[in-house]
Amino acid sequence: MKRIYLSVPHMGTQEEIFVREAFASNQLSTVGPHLDEFEREMSSLVGLPAVALSSGTASIHLGLRLLGVRPGDEVVTPTLTFVASANPIRYLGAEPIFVDSERASWNMDPDLVAAVLKKRAARGRLPRAVVVVHLYGRSADLDPILEVCGRYEVPVLEDAAQALGATYKGKHVGSRGTVTAFSFNGNKIITTTGGGMLMAQKQELVDKARFWSTQARDPGIAYEHSELGYNYRLSNVLAAIGRGQLRVLPERIQQRRAVFTRYCEALADLPGIEPMPQPSWGQHTNWLSCFLIHANQFGASRDNVLNALAAHNIEARPVWKPMHLQPFWQQAERVGGSVAEELFEKGICLPSSSSMSGAEQERVVSIFREQCRARAAG
Ligand SMILES: *Cc1c(COP(=O)(O)O)cnc(C)c1O
Repeated sequence: MKRIYLSVPHMGTQEEIFVREAFASNQLSTVGPHLDEFEREMSSLVGLPAVALSSGTASIHLGLRLLGVRPGDEVVTPTLTFVASANPIRYLGAEPIFVDSERASWNMDPDLVAAVLKKRAARGRLPRAVVVVHLYGRSADLDPILEVCGRYEVPVLEDAAQALGATYKGKHVGSRGTVTAFSFNGNKIITTTGGGMLMAQKQELVDKARFWSTQARDPGIAYEHSELGYNYRLSNVLAAIGRGQLRVLPERIQQRRAVFTRYCEALADLPGIEPMPQPSWGQHTNWLSCFLIHANQFGASRDNVLNALAAHNIEARPVWKPMHLQPFWQQAERVGGSVAEELFEKGICLPSSSSMSGAEQERVVSIFREQCRARAAG
């Protein structure tokens, strides 16, 4: 049986044409028209100025530096996320405060963010920034988070790496934070094979990030540097791929949403299978199709299902392992964590590629039926 992957790249027709253009004009560096256009196109989609970088992680790193994060600072971030939301905090010598999820969206709980800020304000030392993550294509409940952060004047970085194309109350995710990061890693809804985009409300922040991303070279031909820089710029060739991918983004969103809907319909009659919630505050892209498996009702555990899928050459994954359970982050501060722990214990991410066929989805569904029946019979 052919392997079914969790999430694979899915090219349209224009990507290769743009890449050939880059080759034909020998624009094979970190300067070129596709870079400029890719930034312009992302800007017009999200509504903020943009700079194309080598990864989402690099975008978060520079974004946090733009917000003034320094050694010894604290930065609030959800515990339920991919590690790249948290690592850049430590790159800058700061420490995370991991905040639990709310059940309505699996994203960071706004009440807990308010509680942390209140407590820190009482101590007279606020966190330098709050990182909001939009998991699996679903926006966090931004309004209450932005409101409380605004009240305490703590800036927000939106980590929208998993949520390009999702909306919150009619607005594109990533359009509200002081700074935003997107990712075009190979498993995201669209990809440049690897890449990222940093956006900000203020043009001067984007300009500063662009400066840092190219080794912070001062103007002039001499190699003179008055600030610390990085080699974080995207290449013109990869931007060419990104431009082609942006053209098919609406189609990819529809395809991912259709994959999720088919799973929901096919699994609806099985007890103990609960889809990731779809709160009404915005459109979910369903980057990954996620479910909870309540073992007591379903008759098999999440790990039983994962093992059975693996035995049939199907790649599936647990929901993110919370940061407060990571060996590396054991010493970090945290606020709550029991919701994230339950989502991690019961949550499964199913193959969700936009190129996935109905027959492939049927293979996944049949494993669920087997697992459910097997336990009921036993
Ligand atoms: C993928 C991802 C990143 C990192 O993006 P890269 O482009 O892989 O560096 C950051 N945060 C989240 C939530 C992600 O899913």
